Amino acid sequence: MAGPKGTYDVLPGTPFGASSSVREALLAPARLAGYAYAEAPVFESTELFSRGVGESTDVVTKEMFTFADRADRSLTLRPEGTVGVLRAALDAGLHKGQLPVKLRYAGPMFRAERPQAGRYRQFQQVGLEALGVDDPALDAEVVALGWQAYAELGLRQVRLQLTSLGDARCRPAYRAALAAHLTGLDLDEDTRRRAQLNPLRVLDDKRPEVQAQLADAPLMVDALCDPCRDHLTAVTDGLAALGVPYEPAPRLVRGLDYYMRTTFEYVHDGLGAQTAVGGGGRYDGLSEAIGGPPLPGIGWALGVERTMLALAAEDVPAPQEPGLAVFVVPLGAAAKARSVGLVGDLRRAGIAADLAYGDRGMKGAMRAADRSGAAYAVVLGDRDLDAGEVQLKDLRAHAQVAVPLEGLVRHLSADDTGGTQ
Ligand code: AMP
Repeated sequence: MAGPKGTYDVLPGTPFGASSSVREALLAPARLAGYAYAEAPVFESTELFSRGVGESTDVVTKEMFTFADRADRSLTLRPEGTVGVLRAALDAGLHKGQLPVKLRYAGPMFRAERPQAGRYRQFQQVGLEALGVDDPALDAEVVALGWQAYAELGLRQVRLQLTSLGDARCRPAYRAALAAHLTGLDLDEDTRRRAQLNPLRVLDDKRPEVQAQLADAPLMVDALCDPCRDHLTAVTDGLAALGVPYEPAPRLVRGLDYYMRTTFEYVHDGLGAQTAVGGGGRYDGLSEAIGGPPLPGIGWALGVERTMLALAAEDVPAPQEPGLAVFVVPLGAAAKARSVGLVGDLRRAGIAADLAYGDRGMKGAMRAADRSGAAYAVVLGDRDLDAGEVQLKDLRAHAQVAVPLEGLVRHLSADDTGGTQ
């Protein structure tokens, strides 16, 4: 029985089985940079997303999972994480304290997209937000933390594309110039409608026949006002100082409406039709759009599945959870009773331990020990119990020594077997 269309299950041995370790690894650089863990609800009022993500976006117009609760309030499964985290931070008054407010999050997002490789209806993102400070050095930090996340996972083929989308001073005039330019082109009805709603969206139309016509279209980076230009220069200087290479991407437009100034995407060419593994930008108008005070912000979201597809494409193993150190094999009823306490002692000492449950006999239990991936088997027979010792089997070196039962935890701790914890 399969799950709903566009979903997948995370289980050992499945393509996204390493999700939890990958999420943690992707957020590790942010944790070290002072981004605190945040969680907002998986559903919010529909209005929050239509105001925050933007009425002109595909996400809001076509892709939201929206439903009515029993009191007929319209709710929506979050299609992205920024709006909810910002709402939560404002609700808690964090913006009245120390700035910037630095938050990181991880969790499932929901978009009713047409499923394909790398595109799901429930997918996972990790993200971070830095709120309350408009400082290009902070933009550079944010962009670099995403870059570092991929690099530390071992990915070598991620590219950073970056541009500025201007601000309320320079974007309106540019938008009008672009709209005027687009009316002179031979575009289909659908694209014309899109151009009216948000002409910038037409710029990143992937169809070659549209791109061919856009060769002479005006670009935002050529129309930036002085403060936006200075901001962009300071961001790229910061990235240079942090050793993060980037590609100018003057046609980069992102799926959500609220971005301004610094806008970026991490792309990977090994994913087929989907190239974006993550992206983000500055969203200084978002707080007001959802009814909050003026509050600048910048953040990113990285797609967990696409990161794992990129790892597979580059043949880089995903980070694994620490495995078992010890597998205890009791032989006989008295040994079994003693073993139950023994695995408890081992775990309390920080040594990852499991026990052969069920009565499968010596052979079956040793096979289970081998399959468990543990470094050691501890075999405890009734005779060992009488002698006050256990047989400690090194499952890789196939060597065996007798160790006093009471000294086993100490022996294994000294041996650093629990070092994976
Ligand atoms: P966005 O919020 O659209 O900027 O998306 C940020 C990242 O989330 C993208 O770069 C993708 O890696 C990932 N992502 C977005 N939509 C999906 C989806 N439907 N399925 C899987 N990953 C997605």
